[in-house]
Amino acid sequence: AKNGKKVSTVKPKRRPKSKEVERPSKGRSGPTKKGFLIVRQKGSKVQCVVAESKENHVSVDMVKFVRQLNRESFVDVIGYVVLPKDHVTGATQQVEIQVRKVYCVNSALQMLPLYVEDAARSEADIQAGKPGANQDTRLNFRVIDLRTPTNQGIFSIQSWIQIGWRECLLRKGFIEIHSPKLLAGSSEGGSAVFRLDYKGQPACLAQSPQLHKQMAICADFERVFEVGAVYRAEDSFTHRHLCEFIGLDVEMAIHKHYSEIMDLVGELFPFIFNKINENCQKELEAIRKQYPFQPLKFLPKTLKLTFAEGIQMLKEAGVQADPLGDLNTETERKLGELVREKYDTEFYILHRYPSAVRPFYTMPCADDPNYSNSFDVFIRGEEIISGAQRVHDPELLTEQAKRFGIDVETIKTYIDSFRYGAPPHGGFGVGLERVVMLFCGLNNIRKTSLFSRDPLRLAP
Ligand code: ATP
Ligand code: MG
Ligand code: MG
Ligand code: MG
Repeated sequence: AKNGKKVSTVKPKRRPKSKEVERPSKGRSGPTKKGFLIVRQKGSKVQCVVAESKENHVSVDMVKFVRQLNRESFVDVIGYVVLPKDHVTGATQQVEIQVRKVYCVNSALQMLPLYVEDAARSEADIQAGKPGANQDTRLNFRVIDLRTPTNQGIFSIQSWIQIGWRECLLRKGFIEIHSPKLLAGSSEGGSAVFRLDYKGQPACLAQSPQLHKQMAICADFERVFEVGAVYRAEDSFTHRHLCEFIGLDVEMAIHKHYSEIMDLVGELFPFIFNKINENCQKELEAIRKQYPFQPLKFLPKTLKLTFAEGIQMLKEAGVQADPLGDLNTETERKLGELVREKYDTEFYILHRYPSAVRPFYTMPCADDPNYSNSFDVFIRGEEIISGAQRVHDPELLTEQAKRFGIDVETIKTYIDSFRYGAPPHGGFGVGLERVVMLFCGLNNIRKTSLFSRDPLRLAP
């Protein structure tokens, strides 16, 4: 016991620490003798008690000072770690800090536009009448919003995905590259391009690292990957599209068959999922508390179906889908449900897509040009990856680009790369925010983007 007080101490430790004040509860204990602070550091919180005491050199003024601190202020607290007075003896982490000194390093505003507790509220609590915060307010004041345990968890998981991604690929002989984001022509075609003026020359932001990662293969790098920003001027406002996202990309020379690329996906992602499960239990728990979800079901050997098999499964379930068209969000989800029921997995590959719905650089199937050596990969019935073998013949590539309405002059250096000697190759692209969103069963990609960019949002 320290200073004759009736508290059982757990190895009294002096611990100066920088912390943030979350909610100094005012007036919780009688007149001016005591004040409380809840300090938060990353995900953890601890209660601090400031009690007037001559021996501890804690004055009444100090107690008053603590009581009027604004929530979310940044403080340094010096004190002893103790077990609370009313605590039953036994092992516990329910410690509190008996404060000797508090410094307010930087005060927050008295009234904040958003409080962490409101941003952290679960749907169930909101329905039970507790105050919440709407998505726009949360995104407008994202700096505060990001302090919730859920958000701390989401971005920790995002980081672990990149660790798993790099670890697995580096081990397999890939090297990490960075392709240019300012381009003369669009890499994917279509209207979703941000156009800009490049010193008087028309240019655009890269819709993917596609062209240059392929050019790296032409340059003998053999196996490359990239983690970088991707820009798409999406004009629809959906739960899974951003105007800027983080693309995880792979490109590799292939020896015999495009299945080599799918085999890599089939191994890489279970590796990443296991990585998350091994390292992020606390984070997953925090997210689940606010947004309940079931753990992702995936098989050690990733399931692979053909597009035609998928269409057939849908047909048998009474859902019409064009065998030469693309799936839409609804048919993707439906197929996801059917696959889960039949194969007990929520992660699978669908390959041999119709050529008409794939980008111009996609290799058609040798046995039927209506289909292509391409694939999509799904988590919980939504696309996270598109991949394919690429056309390495410059004449066919030119012909396909023209057919897709692309001005071949703007991608001349790309097409020419295949005239200087190029191996058969292929690869895939993944949206990082989408992987986090779907792994955690979240309903909106804005939740997994640090500072999201969508058709209506360019700030913060
Ligand atoms: P979708 O069908 O959802 O529009 P896509 O087929 O147009 O996606 P791809 O060009 O295949 O997308 O890009 C590869 C991956 O990049 C997608 O599987 C997805 O994970 C991610 N992605 C694509 N567009 C976006 C976007 N606007 N916002 C966030 N992620 C995206
Ligand atoms: Mg799209
Ligand atoms: Mg798609
Ligand atoms: Mg796609």
